[in-house]
Amino acid sequence: MSDADKVSSLKPGGIDFDADALRTRYRAERDKRLRPDGNDQYIETKGDFSRYVDDPYVQPGFTRKPIDDAVEVVIIGGGFGGLLAAARLREAGVKSIRIIEKAGDFGGTWYWNRYPGAQCDVESYIYLPLLEETGYMPKERYSYAPEILEHSRRIGEKFDLYRDACFQTQIKALTWNEEESRWMVTTTRDDVMRARFVIMSSGPLNRPKLPGIPGIETYTGHTFHTSRWDYDYTGGDTTGNLHKLADKRVAVIGTGATAVQCVPYVAQYAQHLYVFQRTPSSVDERLNQPTDPEWVKTLTPGWQKRRMDFFNAAVNFTDLSHGGKIEPDQVGDGWTDINRFKGELARLKLDSDTTPAERERLMIELADFRKMNQIRARVDRVVKDRQTAESLKPWYRLFCKRPTFNDEYLPAFNRPNVTLIDTRGRGVDRITEKGLVFDRVEYQADCIIFATGFEVGTAYTRRAGFDVHGRGGESLTEHWRGGPKTLHGFYSAGFPNLFHMGITQNSVTANFPHMLQDQAHHITEVIQHAKRSESRVIEPSPEAQAQWCETIERTESKSRDFQLECTPGYYNNEGQLDKGPGFVGGLYGGGPIEFQKIVDEWLSAGGMKGLKFS
Ligand code: NDP
Repeated sequence: MSDADKVSSLKPGGIDFDADALRTRYRAERDKRLRPDGNDQYIETKGDFSRYVDDPYVQPGFTRKPIDDAVEVVIIGGGFGGLLAAARLREAGVKSIRIIEKAGDFGGTWYWNRYPGAQCDVESYIYLPLLEETGYMPKERYSYAPEILEHSRRIGEKFDLYRDACFQTQIKALTWNEEESRWMVTTTRDDVMRARFVIMSSGPLNRPKLPGIPGIETYTGHTFHTSRWDYDYTGGDTTGNLHKLADKRVAVIGTGATAVQCVPYVAQYAQHLYVFQRTPSSVDERLNQPTDPEWVKTLTPGWQKRRMDFFNAAVNFTDLSHGGKIEPDQVGDGWTDINRFKGELARLKLDSDTTPAERERLMIELADFRKMNQIRARVDRVVKDRQTAESLKPWYRLFCKRPTFNDEYLPAFNRPNVTLIDTRGRGVDRITEKGLVFDRVEYQADCIIFATGFEVGTAYTRRAGFDVHGRGGESLTEHWRGGPKTLHGFYSAGFPNLFHMGITQNSVTANFPHMLQDQAHHITEVIQHAKRSESRVIEPSPEAQAQWCETIERTESKSRDFQLECTPGYYNNEGQLDKGPGFVGGLYGGGPIEFQKIVDEWLSAGGMKGLKFS
């Protein structure tokens, strides 16, 4: 019996769509986009393209004296991950900390991404970490980038981290020194630092990538990547007023989460805007609102963690085919909707041979169809030109790509100065000296803005910008060829006293700072344990590591099946899961709550099984 038959008894009043027809459409749209070059379609920002990663926010010419010393903990990265790790260590009484950051300040992704309209998509009350500790309440439900950057600085100040920070400094190499049982950290500022522990938190989306469109190097107009917005060229700032674009024809390549936020601003100011789309994003309502002071008065200590936990349960991002349990829906936004819909479908009668697992899978799929139908219907309601509206409809399951939330993006296409170039899954054919070509038509442009995202799926060390050499000189690139190998995502055999933060064989939530907060807590506990037991070296046993890798392989299958059905993108390694996991692959399949339970129990059992302290 087909799924459609199983749910046929639901009509009327149950589902009002043809599930099988949607499945067929989704597969056809995916197949159209699969391409043999997968991840290799992108250009690395090096050599002739290295200017795309220059820091536009600092004055040129910064110098300082090289440092030659020893510290207890070196943290690589001054984004939320590094800040949270440093704050927790500071609270735990670790005095000797150093944070190394290539940017000119704290903030990580919010330091770099200052494009107009940049805003967090997860509500600020759970996205901005340490709100209770810093005594700050965001102004709006979804904060704009400057407020988030300011909050990063607030954390730096509150925990007295500025004195420990080395900005505008990049790691050259990280080498384990066997005799000293320490890491030797060398940098582009000629520093030589010795560190007992190193925490790597360089961020999962930190290296801009460019599309390998033929002719890209021949273009003579102005170009930049969204993560290095060129306000000298556009005029204005993150709030808009891009007045210098008034006489410019601008092309934006890409329609992901970044483009959805910046396109309305460019549309407002450019003489003409061409948006080159390969795959449309799902664009849900934003419905931002100022923080209600009456609601703030009702909050009791520990509220932020409780709200984070709730969201985490509601949006199970690792097991994407499976929703969490969320009644009542305290957050109630586009992220938690699928689960709400699923709840509404709960009374549907299915054929009696349907197992509970099948029922669960089907319910979440139907809820997803319903959610995406709602998103497509919104396009029809907002966009006036029928052909443009059809082009802007996404045909895939919600979590196949990063969902977006915006109230100005779709209306931008009603403007006479905005043209959507739907490349129907193919992408821009060619770039010429003067513009961009699709289907033999050249669109001349004074400026191309690359909203083409960040490297994912390339070697971890390539994205970090340096290699790590552990015991016997083994490089992490080699050790991780074919994918990360860790215990719980934190530690790797042969690389003692080195901790990884971010997404590596652990579990991810849509609310990244929550995940980073849990990781910072965990690492601090382990470092504290090492100090209490006067251990100089911490390292996982190869057996424990192998066992965890086996757990990952076994549990990730559900997510893998879901990913295979998805339209290509960085989530599923551009549709080539046989060549490596995508952004949400290679993770613990039981979801973030189960993962956290595993590591918490591992910690509280006391022995930290599989980790050798010596
Ligand atoms: P993405 O990787 O999500 O999007 C890149 C875009 O470029 C896609 O639309 C892609 O199309 C398109 N593209 C790539 N190559 C070509 C080509 N040859 N021709 C035409 N189009 C092309 O990058 P973003 O910067 O938008 O977002 C990255 C991530 O950053 C998000 O997923 C999110 O996690 C995070 N982010 C978070 C925000 C927030 O919290 N508010 C805001 C912005 C970003 P295709 O889809 O077909 O591959």
